[in-house]
Amino acid sequence: MIKVSVIGAGTMGAGIAQIAATQGHEVCLYDNYNGAIENANKKIKKVLNRLVEKERITNKEKEKIIERINFSKELNDIKESHFVIEAIIEDLNIKKDIFSKIEKIVDKNCIISSNTSSLSIASIASSCIHAERVVGIHFFNPAPLMPLVEIIPALQTSDNTLNQAKEIVDGWKKISVIAKDTPGFIVNRVARPFYGEAIRIYEEGIADFATIDWSMKEIGGFKMGPFELMDYIGNDVNYIVTETVFKSFYFDPRYKPSFTQKRMMEAGYLGRKAGKGYYDYNTDIPKAIENRDLGKLILWRILAMLINEAADALFLNIATKEDIDLAMTKGVNYPKGLLAWADEIGIENVLKQLEELQNEYCEDRYRPSPLLRRMVKKNKTFY
Ligand code: NAD
Repeated sequence: MIKVSVIGAGTMGAGIAQIAATQGHEVCLYDNYNGAIENANKKIKKVLNRLVEKERITNKEKEKIIERINFSKELNDIKESHFVIEAIIEDLNIKKDIFSKIEKIVDKNCIISSNTSSLSIASIASSCIHAERVVGIHFFNPAPLMPLVEIIPALQTSDNTLNQAKEIVDGWKKISVIAKDTPGFIVNRVARPFYGEAIRIYEEGIADFATIDWSMKEIGGFKMGPFELMDYIGNDVNYIVTETVFKSFYFDPRYKPSFTQKRMMEAGYLGRKAGKGYYDYNTDIPKAIENRDLGKLILWRILAMLINEAADALFLNIATKEDIDLAMTKGVNYPKGLLAWADEIGIENVLKQLEELQNEYCEDRYRPSPLLRRMVKKNKTFY
């Protein structure tokens, strides 16, 4: 069985190390910050203890999993690895620096991957002499629970690296999708309107947070409403992803961040972790206006924008239609794949909604993907 190393023992690194060790690999989990390795050790043990309590694993299995992880502060300990996953701070220069160091330590056949959410894999790979062995492997948080993994080949990545990485991840009982090396890959690109359009509806005074959340859950079937979800993710984290995607797309108005969320972040109203975000978690959550006509209007507007993003991602060959739909159902728990959903409600109806918004607001934000127009013209469906 191949040896795996995880670089960075934070939220994601600890989770990924736990996955690999549970799958039977010898794992080296490395971090060089004060206390990080000790914290990861405690965190992994706590999670595994809970799994023992729930009788999902035995005490013996827990011991074995922990034994397989070498909690290390010495980068040279990764020497024997066949597969390295980097999950350090989201900073291009620091990532490039560690990739060039990793390459000097490991064997020439070792695959080196990055769990980056927003940086270019081509740029990270360029720090290696053998850039063909570098690939993006994007897990979702919490890594042991979320089934989706986006695999992102860079321009330099060889087919062999891509195939091997996919085989390993699939062997870990994860659902992998392949995405082009473009900002946000699939999920963090296609999901933007779930947050952005919900905030816009609030900003226009159409409905309050609770009513928008109610509409998306009750009528749309989403597990969480946009404001609940932003409070859960953290308004700081969610805002930064939106801003990064916006900048990376050369300021395409489709991805424009909102002042509402920026002010939330600036005020420290970060969401659940701060006790206050869109909702105040020390008082009762306000009641929604349970008006189905208003709810449908809200759902339709956000859904049309989401479908437009999914269609445009397909139009630009970011991924296959199957992978785009899988990514949204398995990565962010959407009730249906967006393209399958479009077929169900009629692509012509989605296009009509987008054209109405574009005519009303005269904003490029609402421009329909050329693929939707083309499909309506040819009377085609996605599936
Ligand atoms: P985190 O802050 O929890 O952990 C980062 C860890 O990296 C810390 O323990 C830190 O000590 C360590 N580190 C920083 N610089 C280092 C260096 N030069 N060498 C060794 N260790 C170093 O961050 P996180 O949330 O786990 O994110 C890690 C990566 O995963 C980022 O690239 C992020 O974009 C990506 N990611 C995060 C999430 C998420 O929801 N948190 C989801 C998917 C991907």
